[in-house]
Amino acid sequence: MQSLGKMMARPLLVSAILEHGANQFGMQQVVSRETHGSIHNYTFRDMANRAKQLANALHSLGLKPGNVVGSIAWNNYRHLESYYGVSGAGMVMHTCNPRLHPNQLAFIINHAEDEAVLFDSSFAPLIKAVAPLCSLVKHWICLSDKTHVPTVEGVDIKNYEDLIAPFPALFDWPDLDENSGAALCYTSGTTGNPKGVMYSHRAIALSALSACLPNVLNISSQETVLPVVPMFHINAWCLPYACLIAGAKLVLPGPRLDGASLYELMESEKVTLSAGVPTIWMGLIEHLEKNQLAFTTMRRTGVGGSAMPKALIAKFNDVYKVDVRHGWGMTETTAVATISNLSADEMHLPNAVRHDMVAKQGKSVFGIELKIVDEDGNSLPRDGQSQGELMVRGQWIVENYHKAETQALVDGWFPTGDIATISPDGVMQIRDRTKDVIKSGGEWISSIELENAAAAHPQVAMAAVIGIKHPKWDERPLLLIVRKQPDFTDKQDLLAFLEQRVAKWWIPDDVIFVDSLPVGGTGKVQKNELRLKYGGLFSA
Ligand code: AMP
Repeated sequence: MQSLGKMMARPLLVSAILEHGANQFGMQQVVSRETHGSIHNYTFRDMANRAKQLANALHSLGLKPGNVVGSIAWNNYRHLESYYGVSGAGMVMHTCNPRLHPNQLAFIINHAEDEAVLFDSSFAPLIKAVAPLCSLVKHWICLSDKTHVPTVEGVDIKNYEDLIAPFPALFDWPDLDENSGAALCYTSGTTGNPKGVMYSHRAIALSALSACLPNVLNISSQETVLPVVPMFHINAWCLPYACLIAGAKLVLPGPRLDGASLYELMESEKVTLSAGVPTIWMGLIEHLEKNQLAFTTMRRTGVGGSAMPKALIAKFNDVYKVDVRHGWGMTETTAVATISNLSADEMHLPNAVRHDMVAKQGKSVFGIELKIVDEDGNSLPRDGQSQGELMVRGQWIVENYHKAETQALVDGWFPTGDIATISPDGVMQIRDRTKDVIKSGGEWISSIELENAAAAHPQVAMAAVIGIKHPKWDERPLLLIVRKQPDFTDKQDLLAFLEQRVAKWWIPDDVIFVDSLPVGGTGKVQKNELRLKYGGLFSA
Protein backbone atom coordinates (compact mmCIF):
# COMPACT_ATOMS: atom_id res chain seq x y z
CA MET A 1 0.00 0.00 0.00
CA GLN A 2 1.24 3.50 -0.83
CA SER A 3 1.99 5.67 2.18
CA LEU A 4 0.58 9.16 2.28
CA GLY A 5 2.80 12.22 2.30
CA LYS A 6 2.86 13.92 5.69
CA MET A 7 2.76 17.50 4.54
CA MET A 8 0.39 20.31 5.41
CA ALA A 9 -2.52 20.73 3.05
CA ARG A 10 -2.60 24.53 3.18
CA PRO A 11 -4.92 25.87 0.51
CA LEU A 12 -3.64 27.87 -2.46
CA LEU A 13 -5.65 31.08 -2.15
CA VAL A 14 -5.79 34.49 -3.82
CA SER A 15 -5.67 36.09 -0.34
CA ALA A 16 -2.37 34.25 0.30
CA ILE A 17 -0.92 35.83 -2.85
CA LEU A 18 -1.93 39.27 -1.59
CA GLU A 19 -0.51 38.68 1.87
CA HIS A 20 2.73 37.38 0.40
CA GLY A 21 3.08 40.43 -1.86
CA ALA A 22 2.26 42.88 0.92
CA ASN A 23 4.48 41.20 3.53
CA GLN A 24 7.51 40.32 1.42
CA PHE A 25 7.48 43.19 -1.08
CA GLY A 26 5.41 45.76 0.79
CA MET A 27 7.18 48.77 -0.68
CA GLN A 28 7.02 47.54 -4.29
CA GLN A 29 5.11 49.94 -6.55
CA VAL A 30 1.83 49.75 -8.40
CA VAL A 31 1.60 52.54 -10.97
CA SER A 32 -1.71 53.10 -12.66
CA ARG A 33 -2.79 55.41 -15.44
CA GLU A 34 -6.25 56.53 -14.59
CA THR A 35 -9.22 56.82 -16.93
CA HIS A 36 -8.90 60.60 -16.76
CA GLY A 37 -5.19 60.53 -17.63
CA SER A 38 -3.48 61.14 -14.28
CA ILE A 39 -0.88 58.74 -12.89
CA HIS A 40 -1.58 57.07 -9.54
CA ASN A 41 1.27 55.53 -7.58
CA TYR A 42 1.25 53.47 -4.39
CA THR A 43 2.71 50.33 -2.83
CA PHE A 44 1.67 46.69 -2.56
CA ARG A 45 1.04 47.36 1.14
CA ASP A 46 -1.31 50.27 0.37
CA MET A 47 -3.07 48.12 -2.19
CA ALA A 48 -3.54 45.26 0.28
CA ASN A 49 -4.93 47.63 2.90
CA ARG A 50 -7.50 49.02 0.50
CA ALA A 51 -8.43 45.49 -0.70
CA LYS A 52 -9.27 44.72 2.93
CA GLN A 53 -11.35 47.89 3.21
CA LEU A 54 -13.22 46.78 0.10
CA ALA A 55 -13.81 43.30 1.53
CA ASN A 56 -15.32 44.93 4.65
CA ALA A 57 -17.42 47.27 2.52
CA LEU A 58 -18.83 44.42 0.43
CA HIS A 59 -19.77 42.57 3.62
CA SER A 60 -21.54 45.69 4.85
CA LEU A 61 -23.62 45.64 1.65
CA GLY A 62 -24.74 42.13 2.59
CA LEU A 63 -22.56 40.24 0.14
CA LYS A 64 -21.38 36.84 1.31
CA PRO A 65 -18.84 34.22 0.25
CA GLY A 66 -20.02 32.64 -2.97
CA ASN A 67 -21.72 35.82 -4.22
CA VAL A 68 -20.57 37.20 -7.55
CA VAL A 69 -19.26 40.72 -8.12
CA GLY A 70 -18.95 41.92 -11.70
CA SER A 71 -16.45 44.41 -13.08
CA ILE A 72 -16.53 46.45 -16.26
CA ALA A 73 -13.21 48.18 -16.01
CA TRP A 74 -9.82 49.00 -17.49
CA ASN A 75 -6.51 47.91 -16.01
CA ASN A 76 -6.16 50.25 -13.06
CA TYR A 77 -5.45 50.18 -9.33
CA ARG A 78 -9.03 50.03 -8.06
CA HIS A 79 -9.71 47.11 -10.39
CA LEU A 80 -6.59 45.44 -8.95
CA GLU A 81 -7.84 45.98 -5.39
CA SER A 82 -11.14 44.38 -6.43
CA TYR A 83 -9.32 41.32 -7.78
CA TYR A 84 -7.98 40.71 -4.27
CA GLY A 85 -10.73 42.15 -2.06
CA VAL A 86 -13.52 40.24 -3.81
CA SER A 87 -11.82 36.85 -4.27
CA GLY A 88 -9.96 37.09 -0.97
CA ALA A 89 -13.27 37.44 0.87
CA GLY A 90 -14.57 34.29 -0.83
CA MET A 91 -16.69 36.06 -3.42
CA VAL A 92 -16.26 35.61 -7.14
CA MET A 93 -14.73 38.32 -9.30
CA HIS A 94 -16.58 38.30 -12.62
CA THR A 95 -14.65 40.41 -15.12
CA CYS A 96 -16.77 41.54 -18.09
CA ASN A 97 -15.60 42.52 -21.54
CA PRO A 98 -16.93 46.06 -22.10
CA ARG A 99 -16.83 45.62 -25.86
CA LEU A 100 -19.61 43.04 -25.78
CA HIS A 101 -22.95 44.14 -27.16
CA PRO A 102 -25.12 45.41 -24.25
CA ASN A 103 -27.49 42.46 -24.71
CA GLN A 104 -24.58 40.01 -24.38
CA LEU A 105 -23.19 41.94 -21.45
CA ALA A 106 -26.57 41.77 -19.73
CA PHE A 107 -26.72 38.06 -20.56
CA ILE A 108 -23.44 37.30 -18.79
CA ILE A 109 -24.23 39.55 -15.80
CA ASN A 110 -27.55 37.74 -15.36
CA HIS A 111 -26.14 34.30 -16.04
CA ALA A 112 -23.37 34.84 -13.47
CA GLU A 113 -25.94 36.36 -11.05
CA ASP A 114 -23.79 39.39 -10.28
CA GLU A 115 -25.05 41.06 -7.08
CA ALA A 116 -22.86 44.12 -7.50
CA VAL A 117 -21.05 45.58 -10.50
CA LEU A 118 -17.93 47.72 -10.26
CA PHE A 119 -17.38 49.92 -13.31
CA ASP A 120 -15.19 52.66 -14.69
CA SER A 121 -16.85 56.05 -15.09
CA SER A 122 -16.18 55.97 -18.84
CA PHE A 123 -18.61 53.05 -19.14
CA ALA A 124 -21.60 55.08 -17.91
CA PRO A 125 -23.38 54.82 -21.31
CA LEU A 126 -22.98 51.05 -21.13
CA ILE A 127 -24.42 50.99 -17.60
CA LYS A 128 -27.36 53.00 -18.83
CA ALA A 129 -27.99 50.34 -21.51
CA VAL A 130 -27.50 47.24 -19.34
CA ALA A 131 -28.84 48.29 -15.92
CA PRO A 132 -32.52 48.01 -16.94
CA LEU A 133 -31.80 44.46 -18.19
CA CYS A 134 -30.05 43.33 -14.99
CA SER A 135 -32.58 43.21 -12.19
CA LEU A 136 -30.44 40.96 -9.97
CA VAL A 137 -27.74 43.61 -9.57
CA LYS A 138 -28.34 45.40 -6.27
CA HIS A 139 -25.32 47.72 -6.32
CA TRP A 140 -23.75 49.68 -9.16
CA ILE A 141 -20.40 50.96 -7.90
CA CYS A 142 -18.31 53.43 -9.86
CA LEU A 143 -14.55 52.85 -9.48
CA SER A 144 -13.90 56.50 -8.66
CA ASP A 145 -14.25 59.14 -6.03
CA LYS A 146 -17.30 61.35 -5.63
CA THR A 147 -16.19 63.92 -8.19
CA HIS A 148 -16.02 61.45 -11.09
CA VAL A 149 -19.28 59.61 -10.57
CA PRO A 150 -21.47 59.85 -13.66
CA THR A 151 -25.19 60.39 -13.44
CA VAL A 152 -27.18 57.64 -15.08
CA GLU A 153 -30.91 58.17 -15.14
CA GLY A 154 -32.77 55.57 -13.12
CA VAL A 155 -29.62 53.97 -11.67
CA ASP A 156 -28.49 54.54 -8.09
CA ILE A 157 -24.69 54.68 -8.29
CA LYS A 158 -22.34 54.43 -5.33
CA ASN A 159 -18.75 55.59 -5.54
CA TYR A 160 -15.92 53.27 -4.54
CA GLU A 161 -14.01 55.75 -2.41
CA ASP A 162 -16.97 56.71 -0.22
CA LEU A 163 -17.95 53.06 -0.02
CA ILE A 164 -14.64 51.83 1.38
CA ALA A 165 -13.64 54.95 3.40
CA PRO A 166 -15.45 54.07 6.66
CA PHE A 167 -13.87 50.63 6.94
CA PRO A 168 -10.61 49.53 8.57
CA ALA A 169 -7.72 48.00 6.66
CA LEU A 170 -8.14 44.85 8.71
CA PHE A 171 -9.85 41.75 7.43
CA ASP A 172 -9.52 38.12 8.37
CA TRP A 173 -9.34 36.37 5.03
CA PRO A 174 -11.43 33.20 5.27
CA ASP A 175 -9.65 29.86 5.03
CA LEU A 176 -11.44 28.79 1.88
CA ASP A 177 -11.35 25.52 0.02
CA GLU A 178 -8.75 26.11 -2.69
CA ASN A 179 -11.14 24.58 -5.20
CA SER A 180 -13.80 27.20 -4.58
CA GLY A 181 -14.49 29.76 -7.31
CA ALA A 182 -12.37 32.93 -7.24
CA ALA A 183 -12.94 34.50 -10.64
CA LEU A 184 -15.27 34.10 -13.56
CA CYS A 185 -14.69 35.00 -17.18
CA TYR A 186 -16.91 34.35 -20.18
CA THR A 187 -15.59 33.23 -23.55
CA SER A 188 -15.73 35.72 -26.38
CA GLY A 189 -18.82 33.96 -27.73
CA THR A 190 -18.37 34.60 -31.45
CA THR A 191 -21.10 32.01 -31.99
CA GLY A 192 -23.96 31.40 -29.56
CA ASN A 193 -24.02 32.76 -26.05
CA PRO A 194 -20.76 33.26 -24.14
CA LYS A 195 -19.83 30.44 -21.79
CA GLY A 196 -18.56 31.04 -18.27
CA VAL A 197 -15.28 29.66 -16.97
CA MET A 198 -15.10 29.65 -13.17
CA TYR A 199 -11.47 29.75 -12.05
CA SER A 200 -10.68 28.20 -8.70
CA HIS A 201 -8.22 29.79 -6.27
CA ARG A 202 -5.97 26.80 -6.87
CA ALA A 203 -6.02 27.20 -10.67
CA ILE A 204 -5.15 30.89 -10.39
CA ALA A 205 -2.33 30.35 -7.90
CA LEU A 206 -0.75 27.54 -9.92
CA SER A 207 -1.10 29.36 -13.21
CA ALA A 208 0.34 32.58 -11.74
CA LEU A 209 3.28 30.65 -10.27
CA SER A 210 3.87 29.08 -13.65
CA ALA A 211 3.86 32.50 -15.37
CA CYS A 212 6.81 33.54 -13.17
CA LEU A 213 9.03 30.65 -14.29
CA PRO A 214 12.14 31.56 -16.32
CA ASN A 215 10.95 29.53 -19.30
CA VAL A 216 7.56 31.21 -19.23
CA LEU A 217 7.71 34.98 -18.59
CA ASN A 218 10.61 35.01 -16.13
CA ILE A 219 9.04 37.40 -13.62
CA SER A 220 11.08 38.38 -10.58
CA SER A 221 11.38 41.37 -8.26
CA GLN A 222 13.82 42.83 -10.78
CA GLU A 223 11.10 43.28 -13.38
CA THR A 224 8.66 46.07 -14.07
CA VAL A 225 5.63 44.51 -15.71
CA LEU A 226 3.06 46.23 -17.91
CA PRO A 227 0.06 43.99 -18.58
CA VAL A 228 -1.55 45.54 -21.64
CA VAL A 229 -3.75 42.47 -21.90
CA PRO A 230 -7.01 43.60 -20.30
CA MET A 231 -7.92 42.49 -16.81
CA PHE A 232 -11.24 41.35 -18.33
CA HIS A 233 -9.43 38.93 -20.65
CA ILE A 234 -8.54 35.76 -18.71
CA ASN A 235 -7.45 37.68 -15.59
CA ALA A 236 -4.87 39.57 -17.68
CA TRP A 237 -3.19 36.18 -18.15
CA CYS A 238 -2.81 36.05 -14.32
CA LEU A 239 -0.16 38.79 -14.33
CA PRO A 240 -1.84 40.77 -11.52
CA TYR A 241 -1.30 37.69 -9.35
CA ALA A 242 2.11 36.70 -10.71
CA CYS A 243 3.57 40.15 -9.96
CA LEU A 244 2.62 39.87 -6.29
CA ILE A 245 4.07 36.37 -6.07
CA ALA A 246 7.32 37.57 -7.65
CA GLY A 247 7.45 41.06 -6.13
CA ALA A 248 7.58 42.72 -9.54
CA LYS A 249 6.57 46.36 -10.01
CA LEU A 250 3.19 46.51 -11.71
CA VAL A 251 2.26 49.20 -14.24
CA LEU A 252 -1.39 49.39 -15.29
CA PRO A 253 -2.12 51.30 -18.51
CA GLY A 254 -5.79 52.28 -18.07
CA PRO A 255 -7.76 52.87 -21.25
CA ARG A 256 -5.06 54.35 -23.49
CA LEU A 257 -3.57 51.47 -25.44
CA ASP A 258 -2.33 53.30 -28.54
CA GLY A 259 1.35 53.08 -29.47
CA ALA A 260 2.27 56.57 -28.27
CA SER A 261 0.64 56.20 -24.84
CA LEU A 262 2.13 52.76 -24.25
CA TYR A 263 5.59 53.85 -25.32
CA GLU A 264 5.44 56.88 -23.05
CA LEU A 265 4.42 54.71 -20.07
CA MET A 266 7.08 52.08 -20.83
CA GLU A 267 9.78 54.71 -20.86
CA SER A 268 8.60 56.80 -17.90
CA GLU A 269 8.07 53.74 -15.65
CA LYS A 270 11.12 51.82 -16.96
CA VAL A 271 9.05 48.83 -17.99
CA THR A 272 11.11 45.69 -18.66
CA LEU A 273 8.38 43.18 -19.51
CA SER A 274 5.03 43.64 -21.16
CA ALA A 275 2.25 41.36 -22.36
CA GLY A 276 -0.50 41.77 -24.91
CA VAL A 277 -2.02 40.72 -28.22
CA PRO A 278 -0.28 41.18 -31.60
CA THR A 279 -2.54 44.04 -32.72
CA ILE A 280 -1.35 46.12 -29.75
CA TRP A 281 2.28 45.45 -30.62
CA MET A 282 1.67 46.44 -34.25
CA GLY A 283 0.48 49.86 -33.06
CA LEU A 284 3.47 50.21 -30.76
CA ILE A 285 6.05 49.30 -33.42
CA GLU A 286 4.38 51.62 -35.93
CA HIS A 287 4.77 54.45 -33.42
CA LEU A 288 8.44 53.62 -32.82
CA GLU A 289 9.15 53.43 -36.55
CA LYS A 290 7.37 56.66 -37.42
CA ASN A 291 9.16 58.58 -34.71
CA GLN A 292 12.50 56.78 -34.86
CA LEU A 293 12.36 55.77 -31.22
CA ALA A 294 13.99 52.95 -29.29
CA PHE A 295 13.27 51.22 -25.99
CA THR A 296 15.48 52.09 -23.04
CA THR A 297 14.47 49.33 -20.62
CA MET A 298 12.03 46.95 -22.36
CA ARG A 299 13.66 43.55 -22.83
CA ARG A 300 10.90 40.97 -23.10
CA THR A 301 7.33 40.77 -24.27
CA GLY A 302 4.73 38.06 -23.81
CA VAL A 303 2.32 37.83 -26.72
CA GLY A 304 -0.68 35.66 -27.45
CA GLY A 305 -4.41 35.71 -28.07
CA SER A 306 -3.81 35.34 -31.78
CA ALA A 307 -0.80 34.33 -33.85
CA MET A 308 2.15 36.70 -33.69
CA PRO A 309 3.32 37.35 -37.29
CA LYS A 310 6.93 36.39 -37.98
CA ALA A 311 7.64 39.82 -39.44
CA LEU A 312 6.72 41.44 -36.13
CA ILE A 313 8.83 38.99 -34.14
CA ALA A 314 11.78 39.92 -36.37
CA LYS A 315 11.25 43.62 -35.72
CA PHE A 316 11.07 43.18 -31.96
CA ASN A 317 14.15 40.93 -31.93
CA ASP A 318 16.46 42.42 -34.49
CA VAL A 319 15.55 46.09 -34.51
CA TYR A 320 14.36 46.75 -30.96
CA LYS A 321 16.30 44.02 -29.11
CA VAL A 322 13.21 42.73 -27.32
CA ASP A 323 12.82 39.00 -26.70
CA VAL A 324 9.40 37.70 -27.78
CA ARG A 325 7.69 34.94 -25.78
CA HIS A 326 4.82 33.74 -27.94
CA GLY A 327 2.22 31.91 -25.89
CA TRP A 328 -1.03 30.12 -26.50
CA GLY A 329 -3.95 29.91 -24.17
CA MET A 330 -7.65 30.47 -24.02
CA THR A 331 -10.32 31.53 -21.53
CA GLU A 332 -10.64 27.86 -20.65
CA THR A 333 -6.92 27.51 -19.74
CA THR A 334 -6.74 30.22 -17.01
CA ALA A 335 -3.65 31.74 -18.64
CA VAL A 336 -0.60 30.57 -20.54
CA ALA A 337 -0.68 26.89 -21.54
CA THR A 338 2.19 26.83 -24.04
CA ILE A 339 5.04 29.21 -24.74
CA SER A 340 7.80 29.52 -27.29
CA ASN A 341 11.21 29.77 -25.77
CA LEU A 342 14.65 29.07 -27.16
CA SER A 343 17.35 26.92 -25.61
CA ALA A 344 20.91 28.18 -25.22
CA ASP A 345 21.93 26.41 -28.45
CA GLU A 346 18.92 27.68 -30.38
CA MET A 347 19.78 31.26 -29.41
CA HIS A 348 22.78 31.00 -31.77
CA LEU A 349 20.77 29.94 -34.81
CA PRO A 350 20.43 32.42 -37.69
CA ASN A 351 17.83 35.13 -37.10
CA ALA A 352 15.32 33.85 -39.65
CA VAL A 353 15.40 30.34 -38.13
CA ARG A 354 14.88 31.70 -34.63
CA HIS A 355 11.94 33.82 -35.76
CA ASP A 356 10.37 30.78 -37.39
CA MET A 357 10.67 28.93 -34.09
CA VAL A 358 9.19 31.77 -32.04
CA ALA A 359 6.30 32.10 -34.49
CA LYS A 360 5.16 28.67 -33.31
CA GLN A 361 3.20 28.56 -30.06
CA GLY A 362 5.84 26.53 -28.24
CA LYS A 363 5.99 23.88 -25.57
CA SER A 364 3.38 23.22 -22.91
CA VAL A 365 4.31 24.53 -19.48
CA PHE A 366 4.57 22.13 -16.54
CA GLY A 367 1.08 20.99 -15.51
CA ILE A 368 -0.37 21.13 -19.00
CA GLU A 369 -0.55 18.18 -21.39
CA LEU A 370 -1.40 18.38 -25.08
CA LYS A 371 -2.43 15.96 -27.79
CA ILE A 372 -3.90 16.25 -31.26
CA VAL A 373 -6.69 14.03 -32.56
CA ASP A 374 -8.38 13.29 -35.89
CA GLU A 375 -12.11 13.69 -36.51
CA ASP A 376 -12.80 10.31 -34.86
CA GLY A 377 -10.87 11.25 -31.74
CA ASN A 378 -7.82 9.08 -32.52
CA SER A 379 -4.49 10.48 -31.34
CA LEU A 380 -2.26 11.70 -34.15
CA PRO A 381 1.54 11.40 -34.16
CA ARG A 382 3.80 14.13 -32.82
CA ASP A 383 5.66 14.45 -36.09
CA GLY A 384 5.26 18.17 -36.77
CA GLN A 385 3.23 17.30 -39.89
CA SER A 386 -0.01 15.62 -38.83
CA GLN A 387 -2.59 18.18 -37.92
CA GLY A 388 -5.69 17.67 -35.87
CA GLU A 389 -7.78 19.21 -33.12
CA LEU A 390 -5.73 20.27 -30.14
CA MET A 391 -6.83 18.67 -26.86
CA VAL A 392 -5.56 19.91 -23.51
CA ARG A 393 -5.69 18.81 -19.89
CA GLY A 394 -4.06 20.02 -16.71
CA GLN A 395 -4.53 21.52 -13.26
CA TRP A 396 -5.82 24.85 -14.52
CA ILE A 397 -7.91 23.73 -17.48
CA VAL A 398 -11.70 24.06 -17.34
CA GLU A 399 -13.60 20.92 -16.42
CA ASN A 400 -17.10 22.22 -17.06
CA TYR A 401 -18.59 25.54 -18.03
CA HIS A 402 -20.41 27.51 -15.34
CA LYS A 403 -23.94 26.13 -14.89
CA ALA A 404 -23.57 24.04 -18.04
CA GLU A 405 -25.74 21.01 -18.55
CA THR A 406 -23.48 19.31 -21.06
CA GLN A 407 -19.95 17.99 -20.47
CA ALA A 408 -17.07 20.10 -21.75
CA LEU A 409 -14.54 17.26 -21.75
CA VAL A 410 -14.04 14.30 -24.08
CA ASP A 411 -12.37 11.38 -22.29
CA GLY A 412 -10.91 13.77 -19.73
CA TRP A 413 -9.47 16.19 -22.31
CA PHE A 414 -10.72 19.64 -23.26
CA PRO A 415 -11.26 20.03 -27.03
CA THR A 416 -9.92 23.48 -27.90
CA GLY A 417 -11.41 24.00 -31.35
CA ASP A 418 -7.91 24.83 -32.57
CA ILE A 419 -6.10 22.83 -35.24
CA ALA A 420 -2.46 22.22 -34.47
CA THR A 421 0.64 20.18 -35.13
CA ILE A 422 3.02 18.95 -32.41
CA SER A 423 6.65 18.22 -33.23
CA PRO A 424 8.60 15.27 -31.75
CA ASP A 425 10.22 17.66 -29.26
CA GLY A 426 6.83 18.96 -28.11
CA VAL A 427 6.61 22.26 -29.98
CA MET A 428 2.99 23.04 -30.79
CA GLN A 429 1.95 25.13 -33.74
CA ILE A 430 -1.56 26.47 -34.17
CA ARG A 431 -2.57 26.08 -37.80
CA ASP A 432 -6.04 27.54 -37.47
CA ARG A 433 -9.33 27.58 -35.63
CA THR A 434 -11.58 24.73 -36.78
CA LYS A 435 -14.10 27.34 -37.88
CA ASP A 436 -11.55 29.53 -39.69
CA VAL A 437 -9.59 26.91 -41.60
CA ILE A 438 -10.36 27.05 -45.32
CA LYS A 439 -11.52 23.80 -46.90
CA SER A 440 -10.59 23.97 -50.56
CA GLY A 441 -11.08 20.94 -52.83
CA GLY A 442 -10.93 18.56 -49.86
CA GLU A 443 -7.65 20.04 -48.57
CA TRP A 444 -7.07 22.53 -45.76
CA ILE A 445 -5.56 25.97 -46.12
CA SER A 446 -4.33 27.67 -42.94
CA SER A 447 -5.67 31.22 -42.72
CA ILE A 448 -3.05 31.98 -40.05
CA GLU A 449 -0.18 31.01 -42.32
CA LEU A 450 -1.52 33.09 -45.20
CA GLU A 451 -1.94 36.08 -42.86
CA ASN A 452 1.56 35.59 -41.58
CA ALA A 453 2.95 35.54 -45.12
CA ALA A 454 0.99 38.66 -46.11
CA ALA A 455 2.06 40.51 -42.96
CA ALA A 456 5.68 40.33 -44.15
CA HIS A 457 4.88 42.49 -47.22
CA PRO A 458 6.23 46.01 -46.69
CA GLN A 459 2.90 47.66 -47.55
CA VAL A 460 0.78 45.52 -45.23
CA ALA A 461 -0.21 46.94 -41.84
CA MET A 462 -2.72 44.17 -41.04
CA ALA A 463 -4.03 41.12 -42.87
CA ALA A 464 -6.98 38.77 -42.47
CA VAL A 465 -7.86 35.72 -44.54
CA ILE A 466 -11.30 34.14 -44.61
CA GLY A 467 -12.77 31.19 -46.48
CA ILE A 468 -15.50 32.15 -48.94
CA LYS A 469 -18.05 29.71 -50.37
CA HIS A 470 -17.00 28.65 -53.85
CA PRO A 471 -19.11 26.72 -56.40
CA LYS A 472 -16.26 24.44 -57.49
CA TRP A 473 -13.80 24.21 -54.57
CA ASP A 474 -16.22 24.40 -51.61
CA GLU A 475 -14.25 27.35 -50.15
CA ARG A 476 -11.50 29.64 -51.43
CA PRO A 477 -9.41 32.19 -49.49
CA LEU A 478 -10.07 35.90 -49.63
CA LEU A 479 -7.35 38.25 -48.37
CA LEU A 480 -8.29 41.52 -46.68
CA ILE A 481 -5.55 44.06 -46.23
CA VAL A 482 -5.13 47.27 -44.26
CA ARG A 483 -2.38 49.12 -46.15
CA LYS A 484 0.41 51.23 -44.72
CA GLN A 485 0.07 53.72 -47.62
CA PRO A 486 -3.40 54.28 -49.10
CA ASP A 487 -1.95 54.79 -52.62
CA PHE A 488 -0.67 51.19 -52.75
CA THR A 489 -3.14 49.36 -55.03
CA ASP A 490 -1.06 46.63 -56.65
CA LYS A 491 -2.88 43.38 -55.88
CA GLN A 492 -0.66 41.45 -58.30
CA ASP A 493 2.44 42.55 -56.40
CA LEU A 494 0.91 41.17 -53.21
CA LEU A 495 -0.10 37.87 -54.79
CA ALA A 496 3.34 37.46 -56.38
CA PHE A 497 4.85 38.08 -52.92
CA LEU A 498 2.65 35.31 -51.48
CA GLU A 499 3.53 32.92 -54.33
CA GLN A 500 7.12 32.92 -53.10
CA ARG A 501 5.97 31.87 -49.65
CA VAL A 502 3.02 29.47 -49.89
CA ALA A 503 1.77 26.70 -52.22
CA LYS A 504 0.22 27.92 -55.44
CA TRP A 505 -3.24 26.53 -54.64
CA TRP A 506 -3.23 28.53 -51.39
CA ILE A 507 -3.04 31.86 -53.24
CA PRO A 508 -6.17 33.89 -52.38
CA ASP A 509 -8.71 34.27 -55.18
CA ASP A 510 -8.97 37.97 -54.46
CA VAL A 511 -7.54 40.78 -52.35
CA ILE A 512 -9.65 43.55 -50.88
CA PHE A 513 -8.15 46.72 -49.43
CA VAL A 514 -10.02 47.92 -46.34
CA ASP A 515 -9.55 50.91 -44.03
CA SER A 516 -9.68 48.76 -40.92
CA LEU A 517 -10.51 45.26 -39.74
CA PRO A 518 -13.09 44.60 -37.02
CA VAL A 519 -11.12 43.76 -33.86
CA GLY A 520 -12.92 42.52 -30.71
CA GLY A 521 -12.23 43.43 -27.12
CA THR A 522 -9.65 40.68 -26.75
CA GLY A 523 -7.65 41.74 -29.80
CA LYS A 524 -8.89 39.15 -32.28
CA VAL A 525 -10.07 39.97 -35.80
CA GLN A 526 -13.80 39.23 -35.89
CA LYS A 527 -13.80 36.86 -38.84
CA ASN A 528 -17.49 36.03 -38.50
CA GLU A 529 -18.26 39.70 -39.28
CA LEU A 530 -16.02 39.50 -42.35
CA ARG A 531 -17.65 36.25 -43.46
CA LEU A 532 -21.09 37.86 -43.16
CA LYS A 533 -19.99 40.83 -45.23
CA TYR A 534 -17.97 39.07 -47.96
CA GLY A 535 -19.38 35.53 -47.80
CA GLY A 536 -21.22 35.71 -51.14
CA LEU A 537 -18.33 37.13 -53.15
CA PHE A 538 -17.28 34.01 -55.08
CA SER A 539 -20.70 32.44 -55.56
CA ALA A 540 -22.30 35.45 -57.28
P1 AMP B 1 -9.94 33.48 -25.94
O1 AMP B 1 -10.57 32.45 -25.11
O2 AMP B 1 -10.87 34.57 -26.36
O3 AMP B 1 -8.70 34.01 -25.38
O4 AMP B 1 -9.53 32.78 -27.31
C1 AMP B 1 -8.70 31.66 -27.34
C2 AMP B 1 -8.29 31.36 -28.74
O5 AMP B 1 -7.40 32.36 -29.22
C3 AMP B 1 -7.52 30.07 -28.90
O6 AMP B 1 -8.36 28.95 -28.91
C4 AMP B 1 -6.82 30.30 -30.22
O7 AMP B 1 -7.69 30.07 -31.31
C5 AMP B 1 -6.52 31.78 -30.16
N1 AMP B 1 -5.13 31.98 -29.75
C6 AMP B 1 -4.67 32.28 -28.52
N2 AMP B 1 -3.32 32.42 -28.54
C7 AMP B 1 -2.94 32.20 -29.81
C8 AMP B 1 -1.68 32.19 -30.49
N3 AMP B 1 -0.54 32.47 -29.87
N4 AMP B 1 -1.68 31.90 -31.81
C9 AMP B 1 -2.81 31.63 -32.47
N5 AMP B 1 -4.02 31.63 -31.90
C10 AMP B 1 -4.08 31.90 -30.59
